[in-house]
Amino acid sequence: MSDDTIFSKIIRGEIPAERVYEDELCICIKDINPQAPTHVLVIPRKAIPRLADATDEDKALLGHLMLSVGEIARKLGVDEAFRVVVNNGEAAGQTVFHLHLHILANKTFSEGSL
Ligand code: IMP
Repeated sequence: MSDDTIFSKIIRGEIPAERVYEDELCICIKDINPQAPTHVLVIPRKAIPRLADATDEDKALLGHLMLSVGEIARKLGVDEAFRVVVNNGEAAGQTVFHLHLHILANKTFSEGSL
């Protein structure tokens, strides 16, 4: 699968995006079509198409992404209540085939439901 997705272009700076965080392994941008008042995407610089394509080699990167979620949530002031979503595969709603974690916050989530 090609890694020339919109996210690779954003990472390379070829397409603009509102960056809220970045480090050597990932960037975080505001979602262009937010599904919650706070909706950002944590995107590894490495182009892994789907979560299911990650391998043992990506263990440290996946841990880094999860720790970055906490850091970003604190930075955005939403660390008391947020959801993290990863869509894996077209049938699950994935539209960009470059792994990314959605952080959604500042909305009322129904208890015990997804
Ligand atoms: P997916 O459906 O889990 O693959 O999520 C892809 C997300 O990327 C969607 O929420 C889109 O709104 C978002 N998106 C697509 N293109 C852009 C862009 O250029 N900038 C920011 N977000 C984007």
